[in-house]
Amino acid sequence: MSDGPMYGPGVKRYIEESKKLLAQRQALLERAKKYKFDTIAVHGLYSPEVALDQNQGAIVEPVYFATSQAYRDSDELEAALAYLIPTWCYTRIANPTTYYLQDVLALLEGYKTGADTSCVVTASGMSAIALATDAFLVKQKSGPEKINFVSSVQLYGGTFQNFNVRKRQERGIEVRWVLNPDNLEEWKSRVDEDTRFLYMEAPSNPQQSFADIKALAGLAHSWEIPFIIDATCATPALMRPVAYGADVVIHSLTKSITAGGLAIGGALISRKPIVTKVKNDNPLFKESFAEYIQFLPYRDQGPSASPMNALFALNDIRTLRSRMDLVSQNCQKVAEFLSRHPRVYQVDYLGLSSFRFHKLAKRYMKLVDSDDGKGNEVNRYGHLMSFRVDGPAENARKAFDKFKIIFRATDLGRVKSVATIPAISTHQQQGEEARRLADIPPQLIRLCVGAEDPDDIIADLDQALKD
Ligand SMILES: *Cc1c(COP(=O)(O)O)cnc(C)c1O
Repeated sequence: MSDGPMYGPGVKRYIEESKKLLAQRQALLERAKKYKFDTIAVHGLYSPEVALDQNQGAIVEPVYFATSQAYRDSDELEAALAYLIPTWCYTRIANPTTYYLQDVLALLEGYKTGADTSCVVTASGMSAIALATDAFLVKQKSGPEKINFVSSVQLYGGTFQNFNVRKRQERGIEVRWVLNPDNLEEWKSRVDEDTRFLYMEAPSNPQQSFADIKALAGLAHSWEIPFIIDATCATPALMRPVAYGADVVIHSLTKSITAGGLAIGGALISRKPIVTKVKNDNPLFKESFAEYIQFLPYRDQGPSASPMNALFALNDIRTLRSRMDLVSQNCQKVAEFLSRHPRVYQVDYLGLSSFRFHKLAKRYMKLVDSDDGKGNEVNRYGHLMSFRVDGPAENARKAFDKFKIIFRATDLGRVKSVATIPAISTHQQQGEEARRLADIPPQLIRLCVGAEDPDDIIADLDQALKD
């Protein structure tokens, strides 16, 4: 990002001119940082002035379907393509609508963390995961090189496939699995100087496993490597891992963030700066990792976000906090009902004190800007839970087939209650042994409770569980 002597006076004029725009943006950012979570979620950086100056006063962000941006002359083109001035250029690289979403997500994820953040929005959660991890798995020497990374084995099925097949089998990268993510000693025993990062999903889908996030970030940093966490199931309304030292946070925007179920999307949010010993000539790699990803690997690999999907996400994010509060409370009620049900032998929900990961989640999952009357934020555990139906696997299938309100779909994070049987859906590809390691028996039904009246969901489950 130098504006050194190789650029002509015309290019320099554009750089000079862009300083005004950058200062305006900085002022908007500083103002937004003083707002509460809900206010940021509703408005982001799309203020009335921006609407009036740039969008005919429309109260909702514009959707720009155009593939490309035009420039006034060759000097502006040159300045833009060298990333010397703010630009969006081409929708594979950036897009004005997507920028609004990136600003909101960076602000929400950085909210009350004391850290600055940047964000790149991608076509899907999976592409955000692939971009975040692959950037650290690059060769550093000309000769043969051993590379590994350490990850909890309790992962979303797609992430498991990406790590186990795409990275390990196809590229020979060693993946060191941690079977008990709540055991710090196990993480410690897997790390060595060839480890490029630690990876965790918390709460994991569907097991809801959890870890001591602060301790894991500390462990990663003691080896000068980043801690990457997929916090899809928490959303920034319930947990902001950057506050505990996480370097990179991943979200599948497809889930609770875009709860209406109309868009696929992903986000990679990074702390400024991240910890890494991977060498890269571009200073953004360390200083603003998400921006580095957007302007280089994302540009070159092409998992670009759709502007329409960005608008759907923006629209649902406005009510994220109150929605996560509501669906968490609904899920708590349903989980308590199922845990008393005679035909259910196990209920896994972070909000149940009997659940293995409850204590850890209690430390980390809190509804942002809430107050229990004593100045503390209240615990909320999200809307993902699972339960196991007594007897052979057919019993679970029979109950599942009888749902009348709950949708049978490999989906979660919705305002509509949705259930699946992971062993025959999301976790089908990875085989019996991997399912056993991940504790996903065929009796397990994953349920994500929506915004319906929870009593109706309870009645649906009760009739389905009758013989
Ligand atoms: C769904 C999901 C993903 C993948 O996201 P897509 O948007 O479907 O690509 C990643 N992590 C978690 C925890 C998920 O639930």
